[in-house]
Amino acid sequence: MAPPTPVALDTDVTWIHGAPSPRRRHDPPLQVHHLAPGTVLIRQSKDLTYEAPFILLLLGERRALLLDTGAVDGTALRQTVDRLVADHLAARTPPDAQTTPNAYDADAYELVVAHTHSHGDHVAGDAAFADRPGTTVVGHDVASVGAFFGISAWPTEVVTLDLGGRPLEVFGIPGHHAASIALHDRTTGLLHTGDTVYPGRIYVQDSDALLDTLDRLVTFAEERTVTHVLGCHVEMTRRPGHDYPLGSRYQPDEPSPFMTVAQLRSARDAFRAVAHRPGIHRFDDVVFCVGEGPRVLVPLQLRALVEQVRWRLGILRRRPAP
Ligand SMILES: [Zn+2]
Repeated sequence: MAPPTPVALDTDVTWIHGAPSPRRRHDPPLQVHHLAPGTVLIRQSKDLTYEAPFILLLLGERRALLLDTGAVDGTALRQTVDRLVADHLAARTPPDAQTTPNAYDADAYELVVAHTHSHGDHVAGDAAFADRPGTTVVGHDVASVGAFFGISAWPTEVVTLDLGGRPLEVFGIPGHHAASIALHDRTTGLLHTGDTVYPGRIYVQDSDALLDTLDRLVTFAEERTVTHVLGCHVEMTRRPGHDYPLGSRYQPDEPSPFMTVAQLRSARDAFRAVAHRPGIHRFDDVVFCVGEGPRVLVPLQLRALVEQVRWRLGILRRRPAP
């Protein structure tokens, strides 16, 4: 039997991308975009955090999954998620709700707050969800992540988390962080790869683990219907092989956060050539930062410093000429 056709995603969106100087900041704290019904992508503002992470909310019939809580402490994300869940439940209340009032009982609708991995820019908003009714906030280490999802053979075992009519497949993808997970949503064909594959700087913490992870991601994508590969940040420009400096507060020429399976495969092939060479390795769609020594940190931080001064003075370059 052929798998069902995935629900199409509306990826035609201009994301908030910061301001050219501190005096011209005007982005909202969060941008909310509905990729499809029950599939929401949220971006945190570069005015608040240069990381500007993307946060995914998937809503099923019985519960929702929030993937990451972003780089900012506070209640803005909690309020936004509460509103999105309420809207989702209101929109799907059936006409016979009078006779079956419990079928769509908002109080019984659960929320799982999980993380692509537990670096600070993905878990900073956790506290706001700690006291939310019907909510599970998944722990941060490999043991907690494995226990929650039921992954006993970490990281290779592929397990299913069902949101209610919406099965998600989850498995471990260490390399950038020991407790990183990938998530595939069969409903939309979205493959979420966190900070392990995205159009930006992939910081490699464990090269051997990442080699294995990238192989498994490519194999998984070839065996499933994957329409889009999505990570948590964008740090590249639209010019192949050119990234914005670390800490950039303004990215007017950034590409879409969505990548293709072909780009995932290219990233895998590229990494094989540089996996054990400490340094910064630039490719068309991604930049691999291998190791944490001076070969990586010095150029990154020098560029970051120059960028910060230019941004504070308001003398950042405009869009590069086409
Ligand atoms: Zn991150």
